[in-house]
Amino acid sequence: MTLAVASGKGGTGKTTIATNLAMVAAEKYGQVTLLDCDVEEPNSHIFIKGTKIKEEIVNIKIPEVDESICTECGACSNFCQYNAIMSLKGKPVVFKEMCHSCGGCTLVCQPKAIHEVDHRIGLINFYSLGKINLIDGLLDVGSPLSPPLIGAVKKLEGKDTLNIIDAPPGTSCPVIEAIKDADYIILVTEPTPFGLNDLVLAVEVSRKLNKKFAVAINRVGSGDDRVHRYCKDENIPIILEIPDDRRIAELYSNGKTILDNLPEYRKSFEEVLTKIGVVIQNGQ
Ligand code: SF4
Ligand code: SF4
Repeated sequence: MTLAVASGKGGTGKTTIATNLAMVAAEKYGQVTLLDCDVEEPNSHIFIKGTKIKEEIVNIKIPEVDESICTECGACSNFCQYNAIMSLKGKPVVFKEMCHSCGGCTLVCQPKAIHEVDHRIGLINFYSLGKINLIDGLLDVGSPLSPPLIGAVKKLEGKDTLNIIDAPPGTSCPVIEAIKDADYIILVTEPTPFGLNDLVLAVEVSRKLNKKFAVAINRVGSGDDRVHRYCKDENIPIILEIPDDRRIAELYSNGKTILDNLPEYRKSFEEVLTKIGVVIQNGQ
């Protein structure tokens, strides 16, 4: 089973919830794989202080043109919708940072002047802490292509473990890549007008993907009740509420988990897993 923790905006407590759920799940159910797909800023490893096992480089395939074969027909640049290969004075020039590795230009090149070469986009790091396998993707600085790296991290989901995905914030392509195969999504938000605005967008995406989902509200008591009213009106379950507790903010800024330091919250995280298990089992 794969559970994704997502949020319409950054800074809502998504990683706090993903890491604490991974800890409680490992204690209750055994092996857990935590996949940090927030590849521009993966920080689950700050809280899950595991031993680093290894790292792997992630490459994508990009085109390289053999000028001795190229007839300067322009078919490749006409094909590329990303403008990653363009004809400049007849000669095709590859802009590798814009290439989405679709392979199309290679296919349309009749004289076979294009072959594919590896282009590095980032790293995958592997950590282990007890029954938690933490796998995170780290996008190279300047690389705009996070979906292929997120896809590479997701391929490492455990076969017989609970998988928890810490998704990137927002509602664009990287988020969709991270959550599209999840069995259940927790949408994390805050009780503020901005929180509500971004939650509405995240709900729309989850509904379009036809996913089961619920809302977790962080810092309850710090804003107003609009998020609660929206969830009630839209019949969206609120699966977790974390109060506006200064101690939690202090733990976060010190790289510490709620579960290890504030045992009074343990039951709330345990109940999240129980509720999701019931929903998945009943196919609701
Ligand atoms: S499609 Fe092939 S032959 Fe035509 S311009 Fe591109 S690389 Fe050259
Ligand atoms: S592989 Fe696809 S995205 Fe990259 S240059 Fe070729 S057509 Fe464009």
